[in-house]
Amino acid sequence: MDKVNDLNCIYRNPNEPIEARVKDLLSRMTLREKAGQMTQIERQVSTPEAIRDFSIGSILSAGGSVPFENALSKDWADMVDGFQRSALENRLGIPMIYGIDAVHGNNSVYGATIFPHNVGLGASRDADLAERIGAATALEVRASGIHYTFAPCVAVCKDPRWGRCYESFSEDTEIVRKMTTVVTGLQGQPPEGHPKGYPFVMGRNKTIACAKHFVGDGGTHKGLNEGNTISSYEDLERIHVAPYLDCISQGVSTVMASYSSWNGSKLHADRFLLTEVLKDKLGFKGFVISDWEALDRLCEPQGSDYRFCISSSVNAGVDMVMVPFRYEQFVEDLVYLVEHGEIPMSRIDDAVERILRVKFVAGIFEHPFSDRSLLDIVGCKLHRDLAREAVRKSLVMLKNGKDPRKPFLPLDRKVKRILVTGTHADDLGYQCGGWTATWDGRSGRITIGTTVLEAIEKAVGDDTEIIYELCPSTETLARQDISFAVVAVGEGPYAEFRGDNLTLVVPFNGADVISSVADRFPTLVILISGRPLTLEPQLLEKMDALVAAWLPGSEGEGITDVIFGDYDFEGRLPVSWFKSVEQLPMNARDNSYDPLYPLGFGLTYNKGRSLH
Ligand code: BGC
Repeated sequence: MDKVNDLNCIYRNPNEPIEARVKDLLSRMTLREKAGQMTQIERQVSTPEAIRDFSIGSILSAGGSVPFENALSKDWADMVDGFQRSALENRLGIPMIYGIDAVHGNNSVYGATIFPHNVGLGASRDADLAERIGAATALEVRASGIHYTFAPCVAVCKDPRWGRCYESFSEDTEIVRKMTTVVTGLQGQPPEGHPKGYPFVMGRNKTIACAKHFVGDGGTHKGLNEGNTISSYEDLERIHVAPYLDCISQGVSTVMASYSSWNGSKLHADRFLLTEVLKDKLGFKGFVISDWEALDRLCEPQGSDYRFCISSSVNAGVDMVMVPFRYEQFVEDLVYLVEHGEIPMSRIDDAVERILRVKFVAGIFEHPFSDRSLLDIVGCKLHRDLAREAVRKSLVMLKNGKDPRKPFLPLDRKVKRILVTGTHADDLGYQCGGWTATWDGRSGRITIGTTVLEAIEKAVGDDTEIIYELCPSTETLARQDISFAVVAVGEGPYAEFRGDNLTLVVPFNGADVISSVADRFPTLVILISGRPLTLEPQLLEKMDALVAAWLPGSEGEGITDVIFGDYDFEGRLPVSWFKSVEQLPMNARDNSYDPLYPLGFGLTYNKGRSLH
């Protein structure tokens, strides 16, 4: 087909209203081109011909699909721009948008600032901080040529056994709602009078955001990933839908459907929730994107009727399909289903209008390529300082002193000798957790940053000796000249179903390490984990102080800022800390609520126990 070269047509004219441009472009598109716009493919299968010939709407990188060590922001920008050049060769010159999971900073790019995962931000309760982190993330994403991030996750995690609890700000809907300001940070602040539900992206320093996973992902039975949320509609709306109201009122451009089910109905095929609730009742005018291969998974119970899965999902309200397993087949099937009356043309037009609207709103037609002047911003001092501030504000002090009248923290930085030990004391990868470098994270020096050990070394003077051992040796434990010990233990990195966990014990024999050290020395325990872990009373008794640091990210100095007393603790538990996993799920509103530490708990130097 000939390329459209008429530069005067409405859709190419930035001075025309966006809705007129959308309609004009839509009227010129073939059904096959529309199906292509509804398709998001993985970069590894993206050939220049496929991107051009199928008019592919979007490309993404899942965590780890690019060799991480080699991929600096410039490499990313080169790669994305290359894909864009292929896209712009399609008949109508429609740009693609490139998406990534920048869920705590631009976490796939080497050297990017890695912020605390959402659970830590929830502990801060600081909406302004979340907005500033969103803005910094947007800059680091755009510096890498990327237009679109699959964030924020606004799940309300009702059960810490769920492997994605750390992606949730809190078990409390009001806290999650408060922290949705990250959307404004990512996309910019819509002006007064911005039409309700209409997407908003303010210029080239902002990204397209995605509120996910709609809806009830954090409420599944026993915290099973991709499981079933059993509830009345009223409870679903009150607990899990509510944060989407806030995202939509900030002009969030896209919403991702959840793999999970609601009362047995898979979200990806739930017309009531995706269309009647999200689009009609809440007035959402951006596009709904499926989760990764979710349509293929929809088929699993039915066997091989892929076309049925496509029609159920698109008819339910999914507008863009993330990684259909075989995208060529998907496009052909989608065309077939429309031609055979299984999907109304009006549904396709609605989906494509939504996708084009977001592209016009985000200025991708005018500025399809990366802005190289942003490159230096990735991992810059300003952003690292912001991440350090976020770490400080996210820390929750759970215990201070065996006798509360004799506080153990802040630590004395003038002592002769400190023992620093534990699996998490000198491991940047563990500090960052999942969705960093790769999908489910990695151990070791995965990016640029400061570990707890390095931060302690910087915090003390030259006269203080730091003894570091991953696991304390018998000789060290026998020493008489160690002033105190800092033990950092916690969870190894994980993502999604890999993190589902029914026992929640401290991994890597963490409890034994704490116990052996605390038996010998005054001990501060820093727990680095995506959620509360089991702490037996005998173990807790042995500790002199306990700090929950969540998954703090690249800036370990945020921890030393507080434990050495330069700043006070501000964090309060965003989730209830259970005594035993048998109590799960816990509900702070239940009469039988009997946690180890309640939602909202957090000690400070000045006030002692803080209130929720
Ligand atoms: C996750 C999403 C993520 C997508 C793309 C899926 O497995 O559920 O949260 O955005 O992958 O990486």
